[in-house]
Amino acid sequence: MSDELIGLTVSQAADRIRAGDLTGEEYFDAYREAATGDSLNAFLWTADEAAASVDGPLAGIPVAVKDIFCTKGVPTTAGSRILEGYLPPYTATAVRRLRDAGAGVLGKANMDEFAMGSSNENSAYGPVLNPWDAERVPGGSSGGSAAAVAGRLAACAIGTDTGGSIRQPAALCGVVGMKPTYGAVSRYGMIAFASSLDQCGPLTRDVTDAALLLGALQGRDSCDSTSVGIDGGIEPPSSENLEGLRFGVPQELAGEAEGIEPGVSEVFERTVGLIEELGGEVSDTHLPHARHGISAYYVLAPAEASANLARFDGVRYGLRLPSEDLTEMYEETRAQGFGDEVKRRIMLGTYALSSGYYEAYYGRAQRVRTKIAEDFSEAFESFDFVVSPTSPSVAFKLGERTGDPLAMYLSDYCTVPMSLAGIPAISIPAGLAKPDGGPELPVGFQIAGPAFSDSAMLDAAYALERAIGFGHENGGPPA
Ligand code: GLN
Repeated sequence: MSDELIGLTVSQAADRIRAGDLTGEEYFDAYREAATGDSLNAFLWTADEAAASVDGPLAGIPVAVKDIFCTKGVPTTAGSRILEGYLPPYTATAVRRLRDAGAGVLGKANMDEFAMGSSNENSAYGPVLNPWDAERVPGGSSGGSAAAVAGRLAACAIGTDTGGSIRQPAALCGVVGMKPTYGAVSRYGMIAFASSLDQCGPLTRDVTDAALLLGALQGRDSCDSTSVGIDGGIEPPSSENLEGLRFGVPQELAGEAEGIEPGVSEVFERTVGLIEELGGEVSDTHLPHARHGISAYYVLAPAEASANLARFDGVRYGLRLPSEDLTEMYEETRAQGFGDEVKRRIMLGTYALSSGYYEAYYGRAQRVRTKIAEDFSEAFESFDFVVSPTSPSVAFKLGERTGDPLAMYLSDYCTVPMSLAGIPAISIPAGLAKPDGGPELPVGFQIAGPAFSDSAMLDAAYALERAIGFGHENGGPPA
């Protein structure tokens, strides 16, 4: 029985719950059982009772929530030792909205510390394993969310994406992951990494579920002045073809780009062929500054992080180490509480913001950001969407990139430009590729559109998803 329930998408389960064929409690409990047997280290906390309500479009739906979202009375660590034992006194708006729609928090999902990482190996609570191959990473930083959905431990999940942290793990785990337009979803209660980039979004089995979740998540929130919501909300996607739509293939992120694995390129080319079969027009385009995205991002994101993380000082939240005086307490707590990657970013960011270097680093990176945003605006004069691989590689082996931060940073080569531009982008599973001698692993295909084209983008992704046929029925890791 519970195997059958776990085979359903959220929209299918919600329909059955609404029709009275299934109770929300039964459905939630099937996942509680699955999540309790978590062998992927995907969860840092799981609910001990069915927590969903009986009304609303998501009635009875269990959601894995990345541990970066504050949840009142439930441990929230952001994957860091420094927040060990922290019980937030309030709940993030995104989580509250899901609850208002009837969903419940199934568990808090493991993640890279403060969302810094591309492999989940920066979690203070141990790495998450990829359900397709336990020797490989699930991607990051929303690795627990992606692995939980792909590994059938959660019906759906939410994560955060600052430079690719929803899309890249979704690609590496073979699920759908979407970063909405910046401002579509409130950031209130989402522990801040780089506030001008951070955005909450869904990780799901299919595009319909992503739309369902985004519909509930989006909206203006008076607690986050950068949230505006999406005019008209999100309709369930229904397009069967791509007629009349123009897709640009930015050569800097696809065709000419270095470092994209052959297996990834092959799946990408095949998927572009499907767009044409569905009636879409495809041609090459250029985002001339996109190749500077990673450099700009690794100045801007650490700069914002260095300011945001100043609040973790042992006084207000979580960990506090005993010491003789206040300064020593700050130093000890931060030295013991933060991991290496977080410290590296605080140092980079503090340096980039120091008065003598501010203009040379931060100011310059901001100008690159503007150039990248202008590149996209120009591309969208001729195209409805731009498409690229989501990640240059399939899931890599645990430990393979931990000694080389630059190699790790390049995992986000194809996703960072959209984050800098604040535009929406979705990754859908497009096929399988075999890295040298390894098992078959999922490959993600990324579609990005102009700001607030979220609904149209979901519609296009839906048509393409059907043509690809990597459905939840035949997709998912081999049992
Ligand atoms: N991997 C990127 C980083 O480490 C992106 C992280 C994210 O999107 N949160 O910063």
